[in-house]
Amino acid sequence: MQIIAGPCSVESHQQMHNVVTELIDTVDMIRCGVWKPRTHPGGFEGLGMAALKIVQDIKKEFPYARFCCEVANPQHVELALLHGIDAVWIGARTTSNPFSVSEIASALHGTHTSVMVKNATAPDIELWLGAIERIEQSNVESVSAIHRGFTAYHNTIYRNDPLWEVAIELHRRRTDLPLICDPSHITGRADKVAELSQTALDLGFDGLMIEVHPTPSQALTDATQQITPHELNSLLHSLVQHTNSSTPQRLQMLRTEIDEVDKQLMQILSRRMNICREIATVKKEHNLTVLQSNRWEQVLQDKITMADRLGIDGDFVRRLYESIHTESLRIQIEEERK
Ligand code: PEP
Ligand code: MN
Repeated sequence: MQIIAGPCSVESHQQMHNVVTELIDTVDMIRCGVWKPRTHPGGFEGLGMAALKIVQDIKKEFPYARFCCEVANPQHVELALLHGIDAVWIGARTTSNPFSVSEIASALHGTHTSVMVKNATAPDIELWLGAIERIEQSNVESVSAIHRGFTAYHNTIYRNDPLWEVAIELHRRRTDLPLICDPSHITGRADKVAELSQTALDLGFDGLMIEVHPTPSQALTDATQQITPHELNSLLHSLVQHTNSSTPQRLQMLRTEIDEVDKQLMQILSRRMNICREIATVKKEHNLTVLQSNRWEQVLQDKITMADRLGIDGDFVRRLYESIHTESLRIQIEEERK
């Protein structure tokens, strides 16, 4: 398990000295924001060159410490590497832009740097993979992916919706790619970082990137989500690590049972869709619209009530039924047009 930790932004020599002194024995690499992408203008945008000078000085005191920072353009790459930054990451906003990623990839060409690519703010797996592929083309030392959650329009309990399925799909397609979780930017809340880190471990992530600040409440960026070095140490001690090497017999039995249940689910879904086709024919004969809003509302409410009785999460059932209903409408429209 690779552990990367450090402040959201480099703020002063003393801050970095404190963090590195506390973390040097427990983490593999120190993260430190040098240039900060801010959604709105006017906020603290990172110390830039002054931050790099601080890192350079700290490196003299701690020659074995390794540092990584975010880069968003070729000039950042050049300056970061010139000042002894050991690894870089591409931030969520930059991953969204193939032009920027290509320029960064060119700047990294032949530099033997380790590069981490955060997911884009939208849950677009192709955009994420595309950015990774562009960086891989520049023959860098190593490439890994960082899952930092996705922007949600509606308020959720998280700052960024984890949508674990996107990271799981990335891992399914690229099992060779180390996958790191950034629980700090997912939760946005210091008191939830430990819980999310454990979830990432349970899902088989290869590493964690956690924001750590000596006095989080005074941090110039992301004050609500940073934890202290002491809190990081207790978090790391509390994590339960799993092995992936052997499959216990009990797990094998449960998986067989799940496979059987899935088979029945698929057969039932297929039956449901066949009934939809028949319904489409009847609606066509009687000149009725495919979407009958009252009926749909009734079906949805029934299922949510049923979910409650069966101890299944109502929100999950709503999402499931919205998906089933969309497919059912698609089938009916297809039938209608025959
Ligand atoms: C960060 O790591 O401080 C950061 C700005 O992250 P993201 O690109 O995930 O928003
Ligand atoms: Mn941050």
